[in-house]
Amino acid sequence: MERIVEVEKVSFDSVEDASLRPSAWDDYIGQNKIKNNLRVFIDAARKRGEPIDHLLFFGPPGLGKTTLAYLIAHEMGANIKTTAGPMIEKSGDLAAILTNLAEGDILFIDEIHRLSHTIEEVLYPAMEDFRLDIIIGSGPAAQTVKIDLPRFTLIGATTRAGMISNPLRDRFGAHFRMDFYSPSDLAKIATRAAIKLAKPINENAAHEIARRSRGTPRIVLRLLRRVRDYAEVEGEETIDHDRAKVALDALGVNEHGFDELDIRLLTLLVEARGKALGLNTLGAALSEDGGTIEEVIEPYLLANGYLERTARGRIATIKSYEVLKLAAPTDQPRLF
Ligand code: ADP
Repeated sequence: MERIVEVEKVSFDSVEDASLRPSAWDDYIGQNKIKNNLRVFIDAARKRGEPIDHLLFFGPPGLGKTTLAYLIAHEMGANIKTTAGPMIEKSGDLAAILTNLAEGDILFIDEIHRLSHTIEEVLYPAMEDFRLDIIIGSGPAAQTVKIDLPRFTLIGATTRAGMISNPLRDRFGAHFRMDFYSPSDLAKIATRAAIKLAKPINENAAHEIARRSRGTPRIVLRLLRRVRDYAEVEGEETIDHDRAKVALDALGVNEHGFDELDIRLLTLLVEARGKALGLNTLGAALSEDGGTIEEVIEPYLLANGYLERTARGRIATIKSYEVLKLAAPTDQPRLF
């Protein structure tokens, strides 16, 4: 079954997604600290007539990392080439990408934590000295050929901060951690996107979608499109609150914006009745690796106080018992 709040990049909606991607700074809502910092970097680099320093964005999927890379390219008047860690299998793949760059180009590597160690090693001199060291042959006869590269900017994005090796992390000039969006920022994103879809949405309806979107713009856009479909079928010119509510309920979107994995995780914790569960236990029960739980699933739940991290493991908070409509154990002082 399709999970409507799944944060998935490739979908039938992705063509429309591109048209909804903000193409100007002012359309990029929220993340003000990051935006202000980037503006300074961009202005300084432009004044010096140099490419901007290499940048690394951390954060759960769908929060706008790729969009930022495109906006930076736009501001710098640079071309952007995009790829992803898993697509670069051999050193030669990376060498081909790098030698095809032009001066000032931006290379965006999504899921950069999935680059293998060997490929990372090719990246180091490229990032530091704009140089490619290619080893020809093997054994004692092996030779290193050095190729100069144009000065480019690498923008890396990762959902898994903990999986970036230190040497790679250190070669980025700046690191930015993306935050989840506030409901009011998400409502603004919904409102602007609805206008672009030629189906304006009223304020309450935009907030209804925002509340159920797990703090994530990509989910806002996905839900907005589905709600728009419902309004269209009903022949309505605009999306009102009732239509949004009925559509979201019909789609089975949780009132708190949780997806299936969130609910399974919270259910496990709530059923543990105050006993802390470690990452390994949770990972085994959910068939996910511990790192994904820690860096992709948990951050939203932690940020909104649904669970607590302790030295012994994770514990559900009172809020989770309430959401799952279960009575909390009364003998657990740690629950709040
Ligand atoms: P990520 O690279 O972090 O997975 P994307 O940059 O692909 O996320 O963003 C997902 C979608 O959400 C994009 O299509 C974009 O239209 C929208 N989006 C993301 N951030 C914002 C924002 N701050 N303001 C408006 N729309 C946004």
